[in-house]
Amino acid sequence: MQTDFLIVGGGAVGLASAQILLKAGYSVTLVERGEVGREASWAGGGILSPLCPWDYREPVTRLALRGMEMFGEEAAALHAATGIDPEFQRSGMLVLPPFKSGLAGQWCAQHRFALQQVNLADYLPAMQGAGMLLPDVAQVRNPRLMQALRRHVEMLGGTILEHQEVHKFEIAGERVVALHTPQGRLSADAYIVAAGAWSRALLGEHALNINIRPIRGQILLLKFDAPPFRNILLRENLYLIPRRDGHVLVGSTLEDVGFDKSITAEARDDLLGRVRELFPDWRDCEPVQQWAGFRPGSPDNIPTIARHPVLANLYANSGHFRYGVTMSFASAELLLNEIEGKPQPYDVEAYRWR
Ligand SMILES: Cc1cc2nc3c(=O)[nH]c(=O)nc-3n(C[C@H](O)[C@H](O)[C@H](O)COP(=O)(O)OP(=O)(O)OC[C@H]3O[C@@H](n4cnc5c(N)ncnc54)[C@H](O)[C@@H]3O)c2cc1C
Repeated sequence: MQTDFLIVGGGAVGLASAQILLKAGYSVTLVERGEVGREASWAGGGILSPLCPWDYREPVTRLALRGMEMFGEEAAALHAATGIDPEFQRSGMLVLPPFKSGLAGQWCAQHRFALQQVNLADYLPAMQGAGMLLPDVAQVRNPRLMQALRRHVEMLGGTILEHQEVHKFEIAGERVVALHTPQGRLSADAYIVAAGAWSRALLGEHALNINIRPIRGQILLLKFDAPPFRNILLRENLYLIPRRDGHVLVGSTLEDVGFDKSITAEARDDLLGRVRELFPDWRDCEPVQQWAGFRPGSPDNIPTIARHPVLANLYANSGHFRYGVTMSFASAELLLNEIEGKPQPYDVEAYRWR
């Protein structure tokens, strides 16, 4: 089998990369160890913004803002093409105190990002005091986004190989010549590693400065008859995401525990405890589900989107840490520019592979 590109990893980043390459006219095969869209990109909350955007460095801001700008159109195009609705909605994010209002105001003004000082009681009758509303923050329903992306990649002619784990790169000179899986050898003109939290382990000695490690996140799912509030709520590290059907996602933990996907009673109690501080009336509310996923944790949340410095036909699109869904389409766009040697929309030095 020969193809222009072999992509390792079928999460949001691998699928968005496949989609943009197919649209540009390349042939693409995506190889996935398990099932497509079942790891971090399934487990995440689907908030399309950094939690407190003012807390991050410029390379995160630029990529996230571009991703947010692209998302509405991408989601609508996926819905129209596949019939699967990723449930993109600009639900806004209401930031509850304590918060850094000076810094937030400055950052929003600098990046022309809408921010409104609001009276919390107007949004949540049981609450008092001032809040900050980011009205343009949107959300998406991850499993639906993954299904739509998968379907679209197939409709565009991409090949998806599931249950095939890449365990070795075959190198000749300064090029990758094949990937090895237990089912055999796969070869292409060029290779893209989009293996999320597993990227560093997969690359082994070729990883160089890619310093990605799994950071476990746990989420609880609550269910109400109707959405109990309209906006995403953020209070320090706790967020609540209301879905249209009355589900509310409560996240999340940040745990450096390796590839251990257990869900824990501690996380459940901690998240529920903090929810009940906000909503004392919910004291009898129990989660209907709890799950965990591995964020591809990278220093300062900055991914690598680049060609390998030695192996001329190897690329990475990995390490998007807390915001890989938000960044997925923008990151794919930068990758395509890198592959085609086209100018980038801004300075991409921070995403280089060294
Ligand atoms: C609890 C939680 C909440 C989150 N909330 C948000 C949020 O609200 N907004 C946001 O933007 N982001 C959020 N994130 C982060 C986001 O989910 C990730 O940054 C993003 O999903 C990473 O996408 P990915 O495609 O790189 O990785 P993944 O989705 O993990 O995909 C990588 C794929 O590579 C495959 N793979 C690995 N090794 C191999 C191999 N050797 N051979 C073949 N295949 C392989 C894996 O099986 C996997 O399917 C959250 C994450 C978690 C865990």
